[in-house]
Amino acid sequence: MQTSFTLAQLADPNVAECGFCTATCPTYVLLGDELDSPRGRIYLIKDMLENDRPATAEVVKHIDRCLSCLACMTTCPSGVHYMHLVDHARVHIQNTYTRPGIDRLLRAFLAHVLPNNRLLRRALDAARLGKPFAGLLAAIGLTPLAAMLRLAPARLSPMAAGQGRRRFPPAGSRCGRVALLTGCVSPVIAPSINAAAIRVLTRHGVEVVVADEGCCGSLVHHMGREDEARSAARRQIDAWTAEIEGLDAILVTASGCGTTVKDYGYMLRTDRAYADKAMRVSRLAMDISEYLSGLELPPERGPSGLVVAYHSACSLQHGQKIVRAPKELLCKMGFVVKDVPEGHLCCGSAGTYNILQPELARRLRERKVDNIEKLKPDAIAAGNIGCMMQIAAGTMIPVVHTVELIDWATGGPEPEALAGKRGSSAAAAAVAPAK
Ligand code: SF4
Ligand code: SF4
Repeated sequence: MQTSFTLAQLADPNVAECGFCTATCPTYVLLGDELDSPRGRIYLIKDMLENDRPATAEVVKHIDRCLSCLACMTTCPSGVHYMHLVDHARVHIQNTYTRPGIDRLLRAFLAHVLPNNRLLRRALDAARLGKPFAGLLAAIGLTPLAAMLRLAPARLSPMAAGQGRRRFPPAGSRCGRVALLTGCVSPVIAPSINAAAIRVLTRHGVEVVVADEGCCGSLVHHMGREDEARSAARRQIDAWTAEIEGLDAILVTASGCGTTVKDYGYMLRTDRAYADKAMRVSRLAMDISEYLSGLELPPERGPSGLVVAYHSACSLQHGQKIVRAPKELLCKMGFVVKDVPEGHLCCGSAGTYNILQPELARRLRERKVDNIEKLKPDAIAAGNIGCMMQIAAGTMIPVVHTVELIDWATGGPEPEALAGKRGSSAAAAAVAPAK
């Protein structure tokens, strides 16, 4: 049996007694149960793995309720690597526990459909037709299905033209070369995000290569389906390795995926054929906001005055420790950026969490939306498609990706979600060129 935590960490009295993490754990905040806190879960995981026991229904209940938001890692004074612990526990659960049939079916469906552009598109088309029946499904106890219908966007943009390996040349002389992970969900639900990233980068002299193979493996990784996650990681690594010489970075616009790609080195550390390549890919991986922070981005439009509530995705603030870069970029572009109260708490999206744990996810969304609406923003910005969908399902305020605002401020089109919906406070100034 292998565990991901060290003896020193487990012997640390802080681990046994401190409990600092409980105050920032969303499920402990909502439920008040020690077993739904990081410390409680660590004990459950430790007990299960050290004794090499199959997972029990009780352990599964509390681990399933964990969002993998990693707020506990930000808070922990002892540096406990909770992410690797809970990832390991999820794999153990997947390998030793037989879930009820409906849960197994749902998980198999999500693992099969979400990473596949074509199937996801069809599923979303069907979900939009089924939206009126969401209440009925919830009433008969099929809450995950109801949650899926409610989350499905009312309208889908056409998918980005062209698939496979593509190059986008820089405007003017080249100052950089990057690969962009397009991913699985974004091209179907919000192709405008990667399109905006490509425009910003090429406009500022960066050549962009799209070489990825769709899903990075993050969605199945968080369900404990480790073989599938590792296969997806190997596919991506092979695709990027062909381009890797001369690449400055591998950029990711969905921070949930970015956290996983940055962890490929760990995921494949025992794979002799891939360990080195995986580490190289992880070192090159950057969130789009990290990379843009290093570029000269003079805004081509005057300060818009648009009031933006910045939602800091957990995977960005806790998983990748990127807190200031997106806000500083938006401020530099002339937006009035407001921090969301209780910004450390997850919005309830968390990969497939909002489908698998719909009730907790709904409560977290309501809390997040309440906090955002207090700010009376014209728009909400986030750096993760999952959060964008989750929050948009609970508010009329337009939700955009941070890079769409940066693109707009530096000469790109106004984000589609904002068109005609902005508050009057900023409408006039937002579109006026500075010159
Ligand atoms: S990852 Fe989030 S939900 Fe899970 S234990 Fe840590 S703080 Fe709580
Ligand atoms: S995970 Fe860290 S913060 Fe939480 S109880 Fe253990 S040592 Fe304390």
